[in-house]
Amino acid sequence: MLLLLWVGVADGRGVKGGGMGQQEGGWLGRTLATLRALFGAGIGAEPGRSRTSGRFPDGTAFRDDVLARYPFTPDAATILRTVPFAVKNLSVPVGGGGWYGPDGRRIELEGIQDEAAVHELAHAWADLAGFYQERAADGPPWPILHRPFRADVRRAADEPDPRYRRVQFLAHQYEYGDPGIGFPGMFENDPERFAGLASGTMGDLALMPPYLARWYAGLFSPPEPGV
Ligand SMILES: [Zn+2]
Repeated sequence: MLLLLWVGVADGRGVKGGGMGQQEGGWLGRTLATLRALFGAGIGAEPGRSRTSGRFPDGTAFRDDVLARYPFTPDAATILRTVPFAVKNLSVPVGGGGWYGPDGRRIELEGIQDEAAVHELAHAWADLAGFYQERAADGPPWPILHRPFRADVRRAADEPDPRYRRVQFLAHQYEYGDPGIGFPGMFENDPERFAGLASGTMGDLALMPPYLARWYAGLFSPPEPGV
């Protein structure tokens, strides 16, 4: 669900704009532009401009289209096709959505936005494929913690290789927070780390350093050699 927070931030709705100096405004503008780039062209897109508008009779059709257009592994797609998938607005790419956990076992999106779909499908896969290793003391009655994965996100936050700059930026936000936009960081929220990096890369594992990409091997296929 963190996508909602990010969509709010990227739209500027979550940011107090008053009293900013030129320099801060420039910095904020760049940050928001970066977040927009990271979280996709669907954010702020005008109704009717989606190339997919009107194509989907129901949420299931959109889900299957997303599963076909992004590099989900065949096994992940098989699991994810068992998840009921509802979309409130089938004609516009409205951001945001929810995965209602292994108990509720369903996904509901606001609109046909690819980023929101990939994000919630990543949440669903991690729960249903048994990705998490540990229950949280104050959490739901299923595992939601994965400490080795979290350690690798921490490592990626300081990754110097420019090929992984997008993921480094996201991981840095997750691990250290960003006072500039009032984001405190992810703390122990491994599900949001996992789904956030899934939608932040849209399944392109070439954007992740190998020590991080390995955790997504069951969800996304690696890029083809030479591509
Ligand atoms: Zn989420």
